[in-house]
Amino acid sequence: MKVLQQRKTAGRLSPPYAVDECSSRGRLKPEPRDEFRSEFQRDRDRIVHSAAFRRLEYKTQVFVNHEGDMFRTRLTHSIEVAQIARTIARGLQLNEDLTEAIALAHDLGHTPFGHAGQDALNECMRDYGGFEHNLQSLRIVDLLEEKYAQFDGLNLTFETREGILKHCSKKNARGLGELGRRFIQGGQPSLEAQIANLADEIAYNNHDLDDALRAGLLQVEDLSQVSSFDERNQEVNEKWPGLPHRRVVHEIIRRMINHLVTDVLTTSKSAIDALDPKSVDDVRACGVPIVSFSDSMRDRHLELKRFLRQHVYRHYRVHRMTAKAKRVVSELFHSFMQDSRLLPPDARARVYDLERSMGENGRARVVADYIAGMTDRFAIAEHGRIFDPSRLT
Ligand code: MG
Repeated sequence: MKVLQQRKTAGRLSPPYAVDECSSRGRLKPEPRDEFRSEFQRDRDRIVHSAAFRRLEYKTQVFVNHEGDMFRTRLTHSIEVAQIARTIARGLQLNEDLTEAIALAHDLGHTPFGHAGQDALNECMRDYGGFEHNLQSLRIVDLLEEKYAQFDGLNLTFETREGILKHCSKKNARGLGELGRRFIQGGQPSLEAQIANLADEIAYNNHDLDDALRAGLLQVEDLSQVSSFDERNQEVNEKWPGLPHRRVVHEIIRRMINHLVTDVLTTSKSAIDALDPKSVDDVRACGVPIVSFSDSMRDRHLELKRFLRQHVYRHYRVHRMTAKAKRVVSELFHSFMQDSRLLPPDARARVYDLERSMGENGRARVVADYIAGMTDRFAIAEHGRIFDPSRLT
């Protein structure tokens, strides 16, 4: 009876391919169960209360944080991903708590200044094992959060950690045991993790478009060549001619998201019916993801992605920001590597620790952890404290 109740999701009996906490592979350090919350609710709660999650508020997506208060940050992005992911998870009768936990944690390891910061840090770390933001997210929840008396990190379940590690190089996967196996031998994560992954793509494409229109980098007319936008634009204009600009944009974008989500739901439902997986391990053994867009929707999604790359991410105003951001990250890294006494005391203590076991690679890893943990504004302030001579006094 107890098992039956726990297999129920939102009042329904969950299907055998949904992750079920009763068959979870558990936590690295075993803990007693909570009386009221599911294991994946506990994971979500630990993520929401983490320092890394709070810092997402001041980390960039595309537009540097202080450029304007109207734009998305990694925090609002993560909340939007969680909203989309939960809708899909509920539609497919999957584990909503797990899906939400993965979605909220998926960007924890991002550096300041979005992809520009990540590229710069990866370049700096080239001779010291590299920097991957997915792996950094895992490092945060497994090691870097300092919250608990009995363990480092947040001690999350295997299934949440599996979902957080979206990509990983084979070299790094070898050091991760069971969690890294699929990157070496092939295979997929749970359907809940696949949903969080796709919800991320849906969220960032559409809100980068929204932010770019708001920032004036694009005009609605420029998007006539993007079919998914153009069709929704015509729909809105026919239904509400003369609607004010901001409402037009919102009506178009919410319809675009709705189309994508509906497509993922129907396509994935058919794929699940055709494959008929009898367990989560059947899902993991699949050669390709089961949660996906239809082919025609994938083409449209890629068309929008290409448009954004060309017209937004490579826009000269964005490029100026990212070039500057890369310089900040790389100058901070090289200064700390040259002189670790520039680091605050707790980071310096970790340098001494890791240098003993890993040599110069250890020092570089601590510096990368320190920089990756910074918000945009903290990185700019820290750069000023180290390089700005007018701040000597
Ligand atoms: Mg994301």
